[in-house]
Amino acid sequence: MSKYALKVGVTGGIGSGKTTVCRIFESLGVPVYYADDRARTLLNTDADIHCGLKAIFSERVFGADGRPDRKYIASVVFEDKEKLAKLNDLIHPAVGADWEAWYSNRKADYPYVLKEAALLFESGSYRKLDRVICVAAPESLRIERVVKRDGVDESAVRSRMKNQLSQELKISLSHHLIKNDGTLSLIKQVVLLHRQLSKGG
Ligand code: ATP
Repeated sequence: MSKYALKVGVTGGIGSGKTTVCRIFESLGVPVYYADDRARTLLNTDADIHCGLKAIFSERVFGADGRPDRKYIASVVFEDKEKLAKLNDLIHPAVGADWEAWYSNRKADYPYVLKEAALLFESGSYRKLDRVICVAAPESLRIERVVKRDGVDESAVRSRMKNQLSQELKISLSHHLIKNDGTLSLIKQVVLLHRQLSKGG
C-alpha cells in the first residue's frame, strides 16, 4: 500500500448528490477538492489564464468588472468547437496543477482524499485517480432536485445532461457506488465507504 493518501474521485450526473455526499465525507474529517469550484475561481483570478483567454477571445472576454464574462465565453464556445478545445486546453492543465499542489499539501496526513468533479470521465482526469465513487439517482429525481435548487426549468437541466456520459456508463467505470434515491441512508453508505477507504480501499 502506498504511504501517501489514495486519490479518490467523486462523480455522478447533474443533481445526483455529489456535493451532498462530499459534505458528509467532510464531516468525517476527509479533505475534499471541489474541481468545478476551483476551475471557476482560477478563471476569475489566475493571471496566466486571463492572458490565455485574451489570446483566444480578444479583450471582449472581460466584462465591465474586469473579470472574464462567463456568459460571453459560453455563447462563443457553443458555436465554435475550436475555441472550446483551446479553452479546455487552457483550463484543464491549470486545474490539474492546482489539484496536484492541493494534494501534495495533504498526502502525508490522510489515508485518502476526495476530488469532486462532474466531468471526471469526460475530461479524462479519472486516469490520475486511484478510485472513483459514482453517486447515482434516478433521472426524474435529479431533475426535480436541480429545478428546485437552481430555480431553472426542466429543459435547461436536460440540456446540461446532454453534455454528460450516461449514468449507467459512469457507474460501470467506477469502483464504488452510492445510491442517492432516498431508499438507502446516505450517511450509512458514506460511513461504510469511509471505513473501507481509510484502510486503503
Ligand atoms: P451538480 O451536478 O449540479 O453540481 P450535485 O451532484 O453536486 O449537483 P447536489 O447539489 O449535492 O448534487 O444535490 C442536488 C440538490 O438535491 C441539492 O439541492 C441537494 O440539497 C438535494 N439533495 C441531494 N441529495 C438529497 C437527498 N438524499 N434528499 C433530499 N435532497 C437531496
